[in-house]
Amino acid sequence: MAKLYFYYSSMNAGKSTSLLQSSYNYQERGMDTLILAPSLDNRYGLEKVTSRIGLEAAALSFSTSDNLLNVIRQQLEGQSLHCVLVDEAQFLTRDQVYQLGEVCDLLNIPVLAYGLRTDFQGEPFEGSKYLLSWADDVTEIKAICYCGRKATMVVRVDEGGNTVTQGMQVHIGGNDTYVSLCRKHFKTRFYDAQKTISLASDKEDDKKAKVSVDVPKGAFG
Ligand SMILES: [Zn+2]
Repeated sequence: MAKLYFYYSSMNAGKSTSLLQSSYNYQERGMDTLILAPSLDNRYGLEKVTSRIGLEAAALSFSTSDNLLNVIRQQLEGQSLHCVLVDEAQFLTRDQVYQLGEVCDLLNIPVLAYGLRTDFQGEPFEGSKYLLSWADDVTEIKAICYCGRKATMVVRVDEGGNTVTQGMQVHIGGNDTYVSLCRKHFKTRFYDAQKTISLASDKEDDKKAKVSVDVPKGAFG
């Protein structure tokens, strides 16, 4: 029976590299794969999955309203498929995770999904929440915090190097970057930044009370 696999991590752990390597391993054995990538601006068509170490492959993009079981069924009309791989799987909806389970159970095609476990506020992404709940097999891909411990969390950092504590879960078109941290250092960064914001808004008239968070540039890159 085909299985639904979920590989999760924080940022810069090598999720896309791992996805592309798995896809390559299938193809090397003469088997066909399909890479799916969610389109955050709801375009449907050809996309590319790229990894930081330079690997890339074509992917089919889909929107949050697409039924992925139907997408795979359509693909099967034109080609055989031995494995489906999903990049940025944290952006899947609950329904789409269910549909990927159907791809395994009804079509007998294994699905390998790769995604972030939590967002910049430490909250679970919808796709990851249901993948962690429903996948047959869950594996962590490890990233490392600057302190050397396993980085399980992600903070959003703005252009000025300040930790962002508010905002949309998905920030399309922003220049923000993401930094992987262990839980201890996530708490330090995130809650210190939150404290700064409330201090600043409580005493807006008193500029001296405004504390800024000192984030040394490059220290977390
Ligand atoms: Zn740390």
